[in-house]
Parts: sequence; C-alpha cells; structure tokens
Amino acid sequence: MRSLSPPPSPPGGLDVRNLTVTYGRSVRALHQVSLHAPEGGVVALLGANGAGKSTLLRAVSGTLPLRAGQVVEGMIRFGPDDLTGRSPAEVVAAGVVQVPEGRRVFSDLTVEENLRAGMLGGRRRRRAEADENLARVHELFPVLAERRRQAAGLLSGGEQQMLAMGRALMAGPRLMLLDEPSLGLAPRMTERIADVIRQIHERGTAVLVVEQNAALALELADHAYVLEVGRVRLSGPSEELSRTDEIRRLYLGEQPEGEDELSSSEPREPARWAG
Ligand code: ATP
Repeated sequence: MRSLSPPPSPPGGLDVRNLTVTYGRSVRALHQVSLHAPEGGVVALLGANGAGKSTLLRAVSGTLPLRAGQVVEGMIRFGPDDLTGRSPAEVVAAGVVQVPEGRRVFSDLTVEENLRAGMLGGRRRRRAEADENLARVHELFPVLAERRRQAAGLLSGGEQQMLAMGRALMAGPRLMLLDEPSLGLAPRMTERIADVIRQIHERGTAVLVVEQNAALALELADHAYVLEVGRVRLSGPSEELSRTDEIRRLYLGEQPEGEDELSSSEPREPARWAG
C-alpha cells in the first residue's frame, strides 16, 4: 500500500485494522484492510467494481450476507466499542448507520412511516429527541415533509435517496456509511445530495462514503482510500490524492500535467444531532 502523509490515528472514530473478509470458501473480498475514519470527518472509499468497497461497509454495519460473508481476521472498533462481528442492531446502537446501495426504502409505507422506522433500530430515546431529529430531517429534506403521507414507492430515485438518508439520520448517528449515494441520479440531484452530505458533516456526524463519482467523493472528503482487489492500494488527504497521476488518470479521467494550488477549507460550526 502507498500512503500519502498518513495522519496519526487519533482516538475515537472508526478504526478498521487488518480486516480480511471472505465469501464462502473461495472468495477473499478484503485482505488485511486498515482504515481510519475520524470522529466528525468525511472519508471516501474509491475503487473499481468488485474492489471490496461495499463489503467493507457491510462488515462494519454487521450486514454481510448471512452464511456466505465472514470476517475471518482483523478488528473493527468505533470509539470504545468493538464492532467486530456485531449484529446490525448493535452497530446502530453504537452510533453507526448504513445507507445501503440502491436505497431500499419500504415502498408501501408512507414517507413518514419510513422515517419513523429509522428510530426503531436506534438507541432508546426520549420522544422529544425523536421529534427533534424528525424536524431536523425535514429541515434538511423539505420534500420529505411535503410528501410525508405519500407512499415511498412513488418518490423519484433522488427523493428515495433522501428518504434513505433521512431514515438513517433518525437514529442520531455519529457515523454514517453511505454506499453510492449518487448512483443513477441526474447531475442536479447529485449536487443536492452532495450538499446534504456536507450539512450532515457540519452537524457533527462523520461520513464514510463509497462513490463511483471520484471527483465528487474527493471534493467531499478530507481523506480517501483506494481499494484494489480487496487491498488498500493508496490512501491520503483528498487534496494530495487528487493531484497524483494515478488518481487523475484512472479515477478523474484527466491527463496529468502541472500541480494545482492547495485550497483551504472554511472553519465549521457543528450543530450535533440529538442522541
Ligand atoms: P461495486 O462497485 O461493483 O459495488 P465493490 O467494490 O462494492 O463493487 P463488493 O461488492 O464488495 O465490491 O465485492 C467484492 C468481491 O466480493 C467481488 O469479487 C464480488 O464478486 C464478491 N462478492 C460480493 N458479494 C458476494 C456474495 N454475496 N457472495 C460471493 N461473492 C461476493
């Protein structure tokens, strides 16, 4: 693995160490993968089809396919909690939620019922906190308030992505795992989803995002990892990675030339989610 300016691993956040995951006897989807997603940060996971990105998210969220998928080596920690081999409900209770690829909303339930279902998996919380989170979800996604009584199956693809993210936020997560949030969306909707990811981050929730749209992922994230056939091939600050020839050629479709100037990021004022 090549690592550009590796940061020291601060305490807190998500720590994946030497993770090896297999499917059945013959497929080794991840091999000795280590990754850190700091508390409150945004980290992107890039890689070609089949590189193991979804497998990594599913191993963290406890949603590897039953029987087939198995963590055979390594460790997953979130803050003080050991999440290795935990059930999805235990992972949510620890403050980590996943928005899976393909959205997977309950199409026959209303938008509001879908959102309230997000609270069921979360820690037990006071009704006031749940209402506060519902209000914040509505603030982030006004369309979900407007359509609260409509069946979720009637929403557009982009709106369903918003609903899936809103449902995950109802659990008051400290870390959100996002699998291909822009998949199949028109550019305007992709930009809207990117804005919301920024706002989620500004409110204090860390994000680990898998994206085929590398330009978008590198713009959103402070730090990125590139997986290649189940191994970390490259990792580093997004700004540094996006200037490497390899990333520019393979992921950004550019012809490498001169180097760009570093740009500084605005200071942020986090307003945390209740819970
Ligand atoms: P994509 O971008 O196409 O979603 P990915 O990087 O998310 O790809 P994974 O879905 O994690 O990759 O797959 C990693 C490897 O594990 C691939 O070789 C894939 O074929 C294999 N794999 C994934 N799910 C299963 C499964 N349920 N059973 C067997 N092999 C699987």
